[in-house]
Amino acid sequence: MPVHSSRRLHHLLSFLSFIMLLPSLSAFSLQATSRLSSAMRSQHLLSINSRLMSVASGTNMESMKTDLPPFPLIGKNPDEEPPRVRFAPSPTGSLHVGGARTALYNWLIAQGARVEGDTNASFIVRVEDTDVARSTKESEESVLKDLEWLGLQWDEGPVTNGDFGPYRQSERADLYKSVARTLLDSGKAYPCFSTNEELESVKEAQMKAGESPRYDGKWRDADPELVQQKIDAGDPYTVRFKVPKGARVVIDDVVRGTIAWDAEATVGDFILLRSSGVPVYNFCVAVDDATMGITMVVRAEEHLTNTLRQGLILDALGAPRPRYAHCSLILGEDQQKLSKRHGATSCNQFKEDGFLPDAMINYLSLLGWNDGTDREIFTRDELVDSFDMSRVNPSGAVFDMQKLKWINGNHLKMMSIEEVKPLILEQLIKHNVLNSNGASDSINRITLAATCLAKQMMVTTVDAATNAKAVLAYPLPQSFDDLSSVEPDEQKLIKSGAFYNVAKAIVAAYDAGVLPRPNEVNVMEPFEELNGELIVEDNATGGGAYAYPAAWKTFMKTLGKEMNLKGKNLFHPARLAMTGVMSGQDVTKQMALLQLACEFGSAVDLEGGLEVVPLEVRIEMLRGFLETIPEEFRVKKEEVVVKEVVQGKKGGGDRRGEGTAAGVTSDAGDSADLVSTYEGPAFNTMDVRVGRITKVWKHEESDKLFCEEVDVGEAEPRQIASGLQPFFSESDLQDRKVLVLCNLKARKLAGFPSHGMVLCTSNDDHTSVKFCDAPVDAEIGERVWWGGDGVLPENMEEAAAENKFAKKKMFEKIAPYLRTNEFGVCEFLGKPIMTNSGPCTSAMADGGIS
Ligand code: GLU
Repeated sequence: MPVHSSRRLHHLLSFLSFIMLLPSLSAFSLQATSRLSSAMRSQHLLSINSRLMSVASGTNMESMKTDLPPFPLIGKNPDEEPPRVRFAPSPTGSLHVGGARTALYNWLIAQGARVEGDTNASFIVRVEDTDVARSTKESEESVLKDLEWLGLQWDEGPVTNGDFGPYRQSERADLYKSVARTLLDSGKAYPCFSTNEELESVKEAQMKAGESPRYDGKWRDADPELVQQKIDAGDPYTVRFKVPKGARVVIDDVVRGTIAWDAEATVGDFILLRSSGVPVYNFCVAVDDATMGITMVVRAEEHLTNTLRQGLILDALGAPRPRYAHCSLILGEDQQKLSKRHGATSCNQFKEDGFLPDAMINYLSLLGWNDGTDREIFTRDELVDSFDMSRVNPSGAVFDMQKLKWINGNHLKMMSIEEVKPLILEQLIKHNVLNSNGASDSINRITLAATCLAKQMMVTTVDAATNAKAVLAYPLPQSFDDLSSVEPDEQKLIKSGAFYNVAKAIVAAYDAGVLPRPNEVNVMEPFEELNGELIVEDNATGGGAYAYPAAWKTFMKTLGKEMNLKGKNLFHPARLAMTGVMSGQDVTKQMALLQLACEFGSAVDLEGGLEVVPLEVRIEMLRGFLETIPEEFRVKKEEVVVKEVVQGKKGGGDRRGEGTAAGVTSDAGDSADLVSTYEGPAFNTMDVRVGRITKVWKHEESDKLFCEEVDVGEAEPRQIASGLQPFFSESDLQDRKVLVLCNLKARKLAGFPSHGMVLCTSNDDHTSVKFCDAPVDAEIGERVWWGGDGVLPENMEEAAAENKFAKKKMFEKIAPYLRTNEFGVCEFLGKPIMTNSGPCTSAMADGGIS
């Protein structure tokens, strides 16, 4: 370009810049003066002031030519400098977990370096608000608030400021313009006068020709005279970056390794400044990374392609490129990018839902990183010590709500009562358990009791409020006719006759004034050791030898003796009577919380709709309920006794006799008794068949269920859901030969239509599960049978039709007598369950089969 025209162009650009700069001029000078402090400051100021002066006078062209802002990393290797990392949120919504993880990794890098003595390490927050239409102040505030909640405090950024500000792109407009001008001056960018229509028609033609659309380079080498004429005529133009011939951008990504782009083949000359003077996103990012001296850019994979343009701009500016690390996307369980439809994704929502910041960062850190071991629980300090970008892996991480909850529960356990208490208070108020205007002493004691009750079992702090609500309510139905409103186990307990007498005795004790009640002088007894230490474990009770917990224990012991009951046969009915729920936390702790809620002047939020059922009312409800229990359910059923006999045999080798080589019992002693006393349905009313799992996958909504397709010898495989996820992997199930109970009616399990049941063995507390296996030679579809001593009965019963089988609840009646013996042989009433190739077995001896 001849000198004179270049000068005229320069002149015009300066003028345009002046117009564009005017509104922000005074603000920028002020900020610049107050924020820049180091050597950088004088350099920055000098360069900015000389530029502004020359622009304002519109004369001294020459002084503008070298106006590049300082690039702190020039002449340095970013890898060897104290880390300066940045989190660059676009304030167009709330902080998403993906953004939070990016922020966390950046924070950990800076924090880790600082802990190792690198005082110059810096975590920067830069607000990328160039998209004026979508950026909002509220969003910026909420993102910053969430970062603060997570404890990811920034060293430089909005509010805190720093030496390299301003930290909002909207406040850096003049910087981008001056850099654009420098690029124009040096011929690394050029004005482009193509109109939108022209660009559109080029694009159309390219697409028609099967080429990927890109700028056609029309103004790249345009005649300077013509350019000048257009400028003189006031034609609008964009500033385009001149992609150098043969340019390549190659990066050594920390997470993804070497990535290279053939720039010329990938992009056309792209826009830096729009005709309105508004800079384009990638240009801002490159200029900011360069001027802020960013040493490493850690961001999401979706920005990988931006690196090409950003790299080209940085190269043109002569600024060293930072090191890049592109982290994988966070996915939902369906392997799609995590979004709102997968549930909570914003940090604020997790905060509301009772998650702890330390648990959040613990979990987020693991979405793509591990410390090389299978360790999963880290405190904040431990994360800072262990985190290392080189162990961040490139594969997509699936967001697992259950795991987050598990981690949250662990962190809650690790915290002290005093630390957790304020968080619980927040939830108790939010969920209308406490009235924030209530008496502070009452608020304090109820919060303490609710915290102690929930401390070791809650998964989120919301659980403490939910638990308190459950404890204060009394869900026993009014009458036996309403029994369907309670849990099946409770219905069973009541119908078994085990409930009536215990509950009756409790009512009688209450009437006689001997039912132990919380100590009104010190209601907190169940939560406090004698030395004042707080109790959080459910099975530990405080208060000493004469306190309420001790009195309750004595009462229960006496009751058990009188009624000849112990263990769960005593505790389940008593708990159901006192709390309306058969199993749950220590009764004395529950009653103490209830007492606090019923005290005169209690701070519970009755106006907010909280349901509190005082002991007096409970006893009256219980009394009414007991009256409605029909006569037949007031005594313990024979069946229960028989079941106990069977379970009592567990592990007793003598009833098995010597056994055959295969472990099949030949003993006729006790098991013969069992057979003769058994009054339930015949084994062979069950249609149990040998099947093979041909396909298996995890249920989409349940972390317990596997969905299977099982060949049971029918034209089509059956679809079956089994609660086996906690015990097996998919590969354990794939192609496995199994025993399938086929005449169960099809029903939906977590929405999945399941038709049949895979038989398994489990120990008594169901912590271990094994399959019931058919012999290797057994045929698929073959019916499994029981014939007493392992001989096929002459008149084998017909399998019951599905509807009959289900209606009569036959399996429930049969199941207590299905067990494995000490050799793992599957037995019914102590005799083997057979296929035509031999008995069925299991890897678990002495287990219950269901
Ligand atoms: N502002 C971008 C975002 O919010 C981040 C870009 C970057 O880190 O380079 O996704």
